[in-house]
Amino acid sequence: MPELPEVETVRKYLSIGIKGKKIEKVNIIDKRITSLSKLDLKLLNGQKIIDIDRKGKYLIFIFEDYIMLSHLRMEGKYYLYHENEENSKYARVIFNLNENLKLIYDDVRRFGKMQLFKKENFDIHIALPNLGNEPFDYDKETFFKIIHKQKKEIKTLLLDQSIIAGIGNIYADEILFKAKISPFKCGFELSKQDTDNILFYAIETLNEAILLGGSTIRSYHPSRDINGRFQQQLLAYGREKKPCLICNHKMIKRFLHGRSLTYCPNCQHVGKVVAIYGKIASGKSSILKMFQNDNYPCFSSDDEVDKLYKNDINFTLKCVNLFHEECLNSNNKVSKEYVKQVIIQDSQKKKELEGIIHPIIQKKAIDFIKKNIDKELIILEIPLLFEAKMESIADYIVGVDVSDYMQIQNLKTRNSISITNDLILNKNNSFNKNIAKCDFVIENNSTLEDLKKKYEELKNFLINV
Ligand SMILES: [Zn+2]
Repeated sequence: MPELPEVETVRKYLSIGIKGKKIEKVNIIDKRITSLSKLDLKLLNGQKIIDIDRKGKYLIFIFEDYIMLSHLRMEGKYYLYHENEENSKYARVIFNLNENLKLIYDDVRRFGKMQLFKKENFDIHIALPNLGNEPFDYDKETFFKIIHKQKKEIKTLLLDQSIIAGIGNIYADEILFKAKISPFKCGFELSKQDTDNILFYAIETLNEAILLGGSTIRSYHPSRDINGRFQQQLLAYGREKKPCLICNHKMIKRFLHGRSLTYCPNCQHVGKVVAIYGKIASGKSSILKMFQNDNYPCFSSDDEVDKLYKNDINFTLKCVNLFHEECLNSNNKVSKEYVKQVIIQDSQKKKELEGIIHPIIQKKAIDFIKKNIDKELIILEIPLLFEAKMESIADYIVGVDVSDYMQIQNLKTRNSISITNDLILNKNNSFNKNIAKCDFVIENNSTLEDLKKKYEELKNFLINV
């Protein structure tokens, strides 16, 4: 998607190419592209193009009597062709100009928008009431005040055009990386120094990108023969899994409210989310305890599920609905053993129970990550990581493997009520299928001392990766 530097590049290209030219006729090929009717666009016939301006990601065409706003959205482009040349493939609107030229608005996805205003009535603040200042127009104090009263994450705020105009995903990642600020920090958590840095790097990054003609990412070219070169300077965007250019830690990509973000966990002080998974009685909990003893924030799915059985009235009601009242013990709590017995025989009920439990655990895990986001490592023990489709919340996956013999020994020492049931339930555990997706695998087939050694290796790997 074109951001401020790309739109500025288009503006410069158009200024050189069409300023002073006259529109002879406007031809709409695909009217979905514009809210303007043919009648509206006819008004432009005979109009001279006085200038082309820009505000945020909007191009502002200034004619003698009219103003036209054009937003390129995802893939919009302007091409200046000779009138005899064949139109570009996705030409949607054609402005025939004098001097045998035509200006083509081309848009493969048709998301672009055009609006026409009478010049005498035009006021940019009325036409675009939800457009904030560009970074260039902010002073540090006002910027701090505006950001500081916001509850959302700074990455989301930078993309909000009503707060700051012109920044999209690419430049937001770059700005936060340079400012060494976590994209997950919320507006009110940022200090004046933080917002000063963000504003400084926003201006620096956009200016640099404008000088280089913007970025050419994937299919987006601002126009024919124009290739931005800023993509060669990108420090964060598109560099996931590559080493940070400052500290060598691996860059991480995650999603926040549906938008991707790439950052360095070390430079930007974002905790690495580590999921530990594996078969039943493989030693996951022992490893979690070791992390706990080293004061890392630890989340145990099993403990959370136990809490559901013990204290959660909504969960109890759902279980009664699913298993009827026989599932309750004398204290009116759901009996885990009874439930186990039923789901071993009834795979549909097992699926329905998981449909209740997995979303609750996922939400609790995400809340836990949010609460501890600035800690170096955030450890989650999630035995059914893949079954619960929770692998995307983890930056690193650690698998704990165990032999069948050791697994039974471990279950015996655990005083499990029914080892057979536990083993049957664990039969379909997808550990072996997903082992290749692990960033680190621990084989726990020896002594506790051996496990401790492996834990130290794991910790070392996670801190330095
Ligand atoms: Zn770094």
